[in-house]
Amino acid sequence: AKRVYLFNEGSKDDRDLLGGKGANLCEMTTLGLPVPFGFTITTPTCREFFQAGNKLPALLEQEYRVALDLVEREMGARFGDPENPLLFSVRSGAAVSMPGMMNTVLNLGLNDESAAGLARKTDNPRFAYDCYRRFIQMFAAVVMGADGEQFEHAIEHYKTEHGKRYDVEMSAQDWQEIVRIFKTLVNFPEDPFIQLKLAVEAVFLSWHTPRAHVYREMNNIPETLGTAVTVQAMVFGNFGDTSGSGVAFTRNPSNGEHSFFGEFLFNAAGEDVVAGTRTPLPVVALQERLPEVYDELYATQALLEKHYRDMQDLEFTVQEGRLYMLQTRSGKRTGRASIKIAVDMVREGLITEREALMRVSPEHVESFMHPMIDPAQKTTIVATGLPASPGGATGQVVFSAEEAVTTAAEGHSVVLVRRETTPEDIHGMKVAAGVLTELGGMTSHAAVVARGMGVCAITGCGSLTINYPAGTATTDDGVVIRRGDIITLDGTAGEVMLGDVPKIEASSSDDFQVLLSWADKHRRLKVRANAETPVDAAKARELGAEGIGLCRTEHMFFESDRIDQMRGMILAENREERQHYLDILLQFQESDMLDLFRVMDGLPVTVRLLDPPLHEFLPHTEEDMVALSSRIGKPVAKIRAMTESLKEVNPMLGFRGCRLSVVYPEVTEMQVKAIIGAAVKATEEGLKPYPEIMIPLVINVREIRLVSKIIDRVIQEVVQEKQISVPYKIGTMMETPRAALGADRLAPEVEFMSFGTNDLTQMTYGFSRDDVSKFLPQYLEKKMVESDPFVSLDLRAVGRLMELAVTESRARKPGIKYGICGEHGGDPRSIQFFHDLGLDYVSCSPFRVPVARIAAAQAKV
Ligand code: PEP
Ligand code: MG
Repeated sequence: AKRVYLFNEGSKDDRDLLGGKGANLCEMTTLGLPVPFGFTITTPTCREFFQAGNKLPALLEQEYRVALDLVEREMGARFGDPENPLLFSVRSGAAVSMPGMMNTVLNLGLNDESAAGLARKTDNPRFAYDCYRRFIQMFAAVVMGADGEQFEHAIEHYKTEHGKRYDVEMSAQDWQEIVRIFKTLVNFPEDPFIQLKLAVEAVFLSWHTPRAHVYREMNNIPETLGTAVTVQAMVFGNFGDTSGSGVAFTRNPSNGEHSFFGEFLFNAAGEDVVAGTRTPLPVVALQERLPEVYDELYATQALLEKHYRDMQDLEFTVQEGRLYMLQTRSGKRTGRASIKIAVDMVREGLITEREALMRVSPEHVESFMHPMIDPAQKTTIVATGLPASPGGATGQVVFSAEEAVTTAAEGHSVVLVRRETTPEDIHGMKVAAGVLTELGGMTSHAAVVARGMGVCAITGCGSLTINYPAGTATTDDGVVIRRGDIITLDGTAGEVMLGDVPKIEASSSDDFQVLLSWADKHRRLKVRANAETPVDAAKARELGAEGIGLCRTEHMFFESDRIDQMRGMILAENREERQHYLDILLQFQESDMLDLFRVMDGLPVTVRLLDPPLHEFLPHTEEDMVALSSRIGKPVAKIRAMTESLKEVNPMLGFRGCRLSVVYPEVTEMQVKAIIGAAVKATEEGLKPYPEIMIPLVINVREIRLVSKIIDRVIQEVVQEKQISVPYKIGTMMETPRAALGADRLAPEVEFMSFGTNDLTQMTYGFSRDDVSKFLPQYLEKKMVESDPFVSLDLRAVGRLMELAVTESRARKPGIKYGICGEHGGDPRSIQFFHDLGLDYVSCSPFRVPVARIAAAQAKV
């Protein structure tokens, strides 16, 4: 196969073959833009190189020498020629952009002879020998693996000896002398063809540098891709006052404004612009000093943007008043800019609404929902955990919910640091700017609750050792974080930093709303929210939720005004005593439900029957037991005994879900009475409530029948009594493998089914939701799993169970409504699968609703 492509032999569609850089250089050449000519060695050649044990294919050199001949002809100069030398830049370029991750060599082809030639040709020996010494320096460091410092030292030493301080004071002779000194430091090859061959090898090898590996791992880029090598004739921006180098964006990459934006350095090489050692001028400075060049550049950028139909990031050089284009690619941009540019381009008729939707990433949307840590300002990271709830937060460290409340009441921002959180910490989480836990996975209590509230959180930060009495959290590296210290969390990355790290505030804009309205127009999946408080529900509705897909009723009983009644109910010794508490709880449940129906007027509200392990409600310490005993008038010994008997080794697999309804049907009765009672009241207020009662953790049809019977009976009683009927549906959660495998038998019994993928993942993997963080980091590091299955749905097994369930239940009961309310419902990567699966809706925490709306549209487009 052909291994070498001249710039006029490819197009922008050849990214896989020629890398992004090579493909775009071909495209610009074909467009007739002023591109210094050159050729690209393909990415498959890189793979051949590695397969052969880091050896270039035998015929490669012949092939690129033919191409090189043609470049010489085009440029009217010869490689290594003593009179009229042609120099090359040699650069890497993979199919996906990996900015600055691999090696580049400039001015290749210089040696003693050609440097003298360059000096004569340009009539500028100083320039020629400066290029030459830069080349040796770069070649030695990049290609020969020499220590770059020694060259800088040699220059410094020379300058001191000769009483010079700045580069501008160095003459041609000085640089020539430096070249001589450099050559005593490395065994520099004079033969340009050997230089080229070594440089090509070095670019290939740079695919495996540690920083390239890390970058690929972070960005999910396959190791097998390999890089292309682009060899391009050099042009010089450091040729004098009518030369220079610049970078530009066709639109402003930070705010998206439609104005040509860039920087230019007169009399400078491209690397000077990137290095930032001199301060560049805004690109319009060219307009005054080289107006023709500016006009051509302006026309070129407009043409490129129109041609690529996206904002472009350009690199260019001006040599003696002539413009040369060196690179164009889609420009990186902030979330704010990405949305403005996408919407503007639709208005300008450049792209379609569908294309605009595809241009926006989940991260872009997130920057509209939460303040984000400014990547440029990131400081040292002292610990890393799971990115449980996105955004950035800074605050004083507190170690208990009570402290969080009092410190926040004094007007301080707080970060609540806990080993793990339980429902009793909720009041502390509510007032915290951020939550950090040592234990717990992505669906642990801390993660789910924080995400629901939109509070930044990091869970499973195993490198922290928390000592409550001492008020310290110590990292594995021995950094001690004390009560009252200021720390910053990056919940998007899972990183803990000391001090106050600057953030970029959440933006809001009309463009964002416009884009969301397009998403709504193009998506099929409905988007609901997981919410149980009126505040969260209102937020969800404001953010576009089309109903509640999961109201976790257990979250409604943790407030201090009712938790004791709940405890009393659990600790009741007979039905009568239990009923006494249930009657009280009924009032709370009903009024809460009514509030929720009010907020969600006209939209469905899926209410899940109680589903926590009972012991979660009970006091954990002796002290709390004594206190509870005095409050509810039950002997401490009794409380202790009951608490003991309810203790479970893995509560997540224990006495919860519909198992509670089977054992305590009266609890279910109370809940249904409350839900329907509230629906009746809402109807009387003129509202339209649509309750959907959902049975959790089902394994078989008998459970559904038993619980449905209770639900139907209680509803009949309420309707009889109030003489008013309300629409309702009964559905089941699909969260055990057994339910999924027997879905065809469950479907006829219910009106809707909703996947609880948190539990389904837990039970499919046998990974306890709450304990997974103890080994998951190792699993990820050692590639035992591709990604955290609690974040992005595992398609191979959990996805297959879901597919089987949907197919078989729909075969049995065509069109039965199917949803998903596990945390995966808000994960953009999983949403594509849910769309393909033909689900009717996804349900996710309120702050993820906009991301889900866009992802649902992207899945369809
Ligand atoms: C689930 O298991 O996916 C679910 C939504 O329920 P919970 O997270 O409350 O167990
Ligand atoms: Mg569940």
